[in-house]
Amino acid sequence: MVENFNWDIFTSSDQSLLDIARSVYAQFQNTMSIEDIGKLLRDTDWNSLLSAVKQEREENYNTFWNEMVTCTSCEIQLKRKDCFQRGNIPFRIPLSIGTYCISCAKEILLEWEMCCVLCGTRYYKQARNTAHSLCDSCATPQNVRESRRLISHIGRISGNNIDDVISLSQWINTLNYFSWMCAYCQSVSFTDIDHFIPISLDGKHVASNCVPSCDTCNSKKKDTHPDKIVSIPRSDIERVRAYLATQNAAADHLGLDIAV
Ligand SMILES: [Zn+2]
Ligand SMILES: [Zn+2]
Ligand SMILES: [Zn+2]
Repeated sequence: MVENFNWDIFTSSDQSLLDIARSVYAQFQNTMSIEDIGKLLRDTDWNSLLSAVKQEREENYNTFWNEMVTCTSCEIQLKRKDCFQRGNIPFRIPLSIGTYCISCAKEILLEWEMCCVLCGTRYYKQARNTAHSLCDSCATPQNVRESRRLISHIGRISGNNIDDVISLSQWINTLNYFSWMCAYCQSVSFTDIDHFIPISLDGKHVASNCVPSCDTCNSKKKDTHPDKIVSIPRSDIERVRAYLATQNAAADHLGLDIAV
C-alpha cells in the first residue's frame, strides 16, 4: 500500500526522489489501483534513478557555470563560474541585475562600502538619511540625532574647515563623559552644544571647545568669556576647562562623511 510506503528514506537521502515518487503517485492515482502504484514504487530501481538524476544535475550544473557570459559593466567575456558571486551582499547594491567580472564588482562595492565613524566597522551603506556614516548597530536614534546636530552646527558656523570640526565620535565621547547631562550644572539633560570659548570670541567648533549644556547654563554663559562668567560657579567652569584641556583640538581620523 502506498500509505505504508516508507517515504522517510527519501527525505533523508535525496529530496528529489520523494518528489519523483509523489509525481508518480499523482500521475497514476486516477488510472491505477493504489496497490499497483505501491508495487510500481516498490519495484522501481531507485538507485539507478538516483544516479541518473545526479548525473543530469551535474551536467546541467557544469553547462551553466561554464557558459560564456558578458560583464554587464566592462563587457568582457568570461565564464559564469569566474563571475563575481554576490554571496551575502545586500540586495540594495546593484549587482543582482547582470553579471560582473570580479574587478567591476569590486569597483561597485567600493562605492557602497562605508566605514562607521563611531566603531570603524566596514559596512554597506543604506539609503539612510544620516549625515555621518553609521553602521546599523551605531545608527541608534540618539546617535543619528547628534549626527544631525553636528551637521546643523557646521552649517551655522562659518570659517571652520570642515576637516577641522569636532567629529561625531569625539562628540559622543564627550557626551558619554558627562553622562549626556549638562556639563556645567550636571543636574539636567543637555539641550545643545556649548562652545566654552564663544564662537563670537573666536572659539572654535572643535572637540577641545565643545561641551553639552542645558538651556539655563547656556543663557547664563551667553557670549561671555569663561574667565568673566559669574553666574556659574567657578569650580564648574574650571572642571569643564580641565576636561576640555584633555581633548584634542584636531578632529580624529574618523571624519565627516557629508556625502551619505
Ligand atoms: Zn567587468
Ligand atoms: Zn558602528
Ligand atoms: Zn546646566
